[in-house]
Amino acid sequence: MKTILDFSKKELEGMVKPSFRAKQIYEWIYKKGAVEFTQMSNLPAAMRAELTKNYTIDSVREVKCEISRDGSKKYLFALHDGKTVESVLLPMKEELSDENGELKRHARYTICVSSQVGCKMGCAFCFTAKGGFVRNLSAGEIVGQILYIKRANEIPYERRVNVVYMGMGEPLDNFENVKKAVEILKENDGLAIGARRQTISTSGLASQIKKLGEYDLGVLLAISLHAVNDELRDKLMPVNKAYNIAAVMEAIREFPIDQRKRIMFEYLVLGGVNDHESDAKTLVKLLNGIKAKVNLILFNPHEGSEFKRPAMSDVEKFRDFLRSKGVTCTIRESKGLDISAACGQLREKVKYDNA
Ligand code: SAH
Ligand code: SF4
Repeated sequence: MKTILDFSKKELEGMVKPSFRAKQIYEWIYKKGAVEFTQMSNLPAAMRAELTKNYTIDSVREVKCEISRDGSKKYLFALHDGKTVESVLLPMKEELSDENGELKRHARYTICVSSQVGCKMGCAFCFTAKGGFVRNLSAGEIVGQILYIKRANEIPYERRVNVVYMGMGEPLDNFENVKKAVEILKENDGLAIGARRQTISTSGLASQIKKLGEYDLGVLLAISLHAVNDELRDKLMPVNKAYNIAAVMEAIREFPIDQRKRIMFEYLVLGGVNDHESDAKTLVKLLNGIKAKVNLILFNPHEGSEFKRPAMSDVEKFRDFLRSKGVTCTIRESKGLDISAACGQLREKVKYDNA
């Protein structure tokens, strides 16, 4: 059965009469956390029955949830056809000043979602790549991961939630559905997660980055760079043969971005492969003139992987070099390393300051 989460509010307005019912349905699902249409007490009984006959609310079913000692939770979800994807909830503290200028700590959450079952991109270090591509997720299957996690963890409606498209799949290879998910999540009568709190992470599909820029949705962009010369990047990320580093950098330079925001560059540090000072030097040159922040991710080894985890001291050296040249750089902590590494990618990269 089709999930109602697939519909934008506008589409829903075209489907139900009178159209203000769409707002009520949205509020029930996204604000009040209804799990059945029968709960929607201000809808006519006939409409509730009709909706129940044709649609489900949830698009994902929890199969497993692993809780890490650091508080992150990794979910395995089954979709309607039995295919599975992963999502991660990362609780974190953020510091905000109140109206008197006093520093207050608030709980904040980042939810990392999958955009495809599998992935076509074939990156050498990635566990998802091993299984190949299975299918795209629909917009409702993306939105459903967030809705489920918010509800299951009783995260209050007003609590700030960031979304990162850093789970399984290449979001820009599922362009239309990801764009629609961004828009559904933004909806004020829905979850109201602004585009500036949503980050799309891409392996560098330059033409799609351009297309995304033209829509000017307001989403943030993260680029998985991982290598600073084409020779190495070709080997690590086959997508580089279609869009090399120069093509990716050109697309990024044109990408519209909020004055206060930066483009995030993810750099997966592979021990002995891309962690030399010469790499750091070239990276500084590449980023010249771009409002960038670099997020160094420690490679998370998985079964059968040919790479090794870098030494922390090398990663720190790399970071210190970038900083000495004025490049903002952080090292991503290993979140949830004690929970099973099925996906091989969901744990270390997500916690970064979206503000
Ligand atoms: N396809 C998109 C988004 C999903 S992957 C992309 O590639 O950007 C999200 C991030 O996880 C990417 O930066 C990816 O390179 C990284 N990643 C993949 N395998 C990893 C591993 N074994 N350890 C750590 N990070 C990994
Ligand atoms: Fe796909 Fe991203 Fe994994 Fe590369 S790193 S195979 S693009 S999910």
